[in-house]
Amino acid sequence: MNFEDTPEEAEFRSRVRAWLGANAKPRDANSASNPLGERETDEMIADAKAWQSKKFDEGWACLTWPKEFGGQGLGRMESVIWGQEEGKFDVPPNVYQIGHGMLGPTIMAHGTQEQKDKYVRQMARGQEIWCQLFSEPAAGSDLAGLRTTAVRDGDDWVINGQKIWSTGAHYCDWGMIVTRTDPDAPKHKGLTYFIIDMRSEGVEARPIKQISGAAGFNEVFFTDVRVPDSNRLGEVGTGWMVALTTLMNERVAIGSGGAGGGFHRLLDLAKRSRRNGKSALEDSAVRQQLADFYVTSKGLQYTGYRTLSAILRGDTPGPEGAIGKAVGAPMMQQMASFAQDLQGTAGALLDKDVAGDDSTWQELYLGAPGMRIAGGTDEVLRNIIAERVLGLPAEIRVDKGKPFREIPTGPQKD
Ligand SMILES: Cc1cc2nc3c(=O)[nH]c(=O)nc-3n(C[C@H](O)[C@H](O)[C@H](O)COP(=O)(O)OP(=O)(O)OC[C@H]3O[C@@H](n4cnc5c(N)ncnc54)[C@H](O)[C@@H]3O)c2cc1C
Repeated sequence: MNFEDTPEEAEFRSRVRAWLGANAKPRDANSASNPLGERETDEMIADAKAWQSKKFDEGWACLTWPKEFGGQGLGRMESVIWGQEEGKFDVPPNVYQIGHGMLGPTIMAHGTQEQKDKYVRQMARGQEIWCQLFSEPAAGSDLAGLRTTAVRDGDDWVINGQKIWSTGAHYCDWGMIVTRTDPDAPKHKGLTYFIIDMRSEGVEARPIKQISGAAGFNEVFFTDVRVPDSNRLGEVGTGWMVALTTLMNERVAIGSGGAGGGFHRLLDLAKRSRRNGKSALEDSAVRQQLADFYVTSKGLQYTGYRTLSAILRGDTPGPEGAIGKAVGAPMMQQMASFAQDLQGTAGALLDKDVAGDDSTWQELYLGAPGMRIAGGTDEVLRNIIAERVLGLPAEIRVDKGKPFREIPTGPQKD
């Protein structure tokens, strides 16, 4: 891969910079982006919608989407350049990652023309926000084990069950849900995928309060929720295939999320911190640790470029995409922990009014376990790398081909 911009890319980058410079404030290089938190949600959502609307009106929304759906019909490289440049500005948090990164592409791939016309352009404009309703209390890594049911009733389907860890469901307008429509089929075969109006009667989102005090995701309960058949995405019983499109796009969205960032903030903190009466940067143990983080973050950066090169060649990113998250998420946790050590007793402070931007290390430390779980846990990613990159034997699957109804779920009688 050529690491320099081509003349066309350089021209695009300078247009992006000019537009961002005219419409947003540059971010202080040492400040971290503000994650969505419980306290600021309403204001942040309003800011995020205003920012997205501006981008849409002025031709900077959903760059890789076709123009007919509100995108700009540009390539992946332009989208990467946009992300790199927008990241240097103080813009609202991206509440559209799930909708734009995963759900829009799923509707474009599997939706009817009517569904595409009705939802995709609106999604790009961003006045409606979308959530992903896949995981359940007993179906996360093993998603195909989900138990929320949809039963046909005339022109509608009636949905009952519970989802969990649904990011943003408490402020979202629309969701994409996978349900079980045939418990007599093997578990991957009896699923059907729907678009659901989150304001429907019988939908209840209960935010889950996290250790950081934020409440970014929810339990969502469905009690006799009626969804019209026209909101079904794909054929009855093909929900797993449709869900795989969403999940493949999730891996790409996570993989292009800039794993390995944050090193320069950590270096800056080390320069400002004191250890044994001198700058922490003069301490050999600190230097050793920083060098380790630097090497790992460079490895992640170049592994990310490898995935990007594959996408630019038109290939589908392979299972090696799992490496970025399997290494990057634990490293973020280790870096946050090390930053807290550097801060000494101030490392315990989470309040931004007291600790300023350095408090984001505490927020990162408390949020990092979630990053190691969302989109594939550490163990599941290692399984993928073991089986599909290294070619080790696959896990034993005792439920393969069995009707879902017959898969044991609790203690077995003799
Ligand atoms: C911050 C965050 C945001 C999320 N957002 C969403 C969202 O918007 N929508 C949504 O639908 N879901 C969301 N999720 C849910 C996420 O997809 C699941 O948490 C994840 O897939 C893991 O599932 P689980 O929590 O049920 O854990 P489980 O699958 O029950 O795993 C429990 C433990 O068992 C281990 N394990 C499981 N299977 C294996 C195996 N085969 N081999 C070895 N070890 C195994 C896991 O690694 C883990 O340590 C989010 C999660 C987080 C943390």
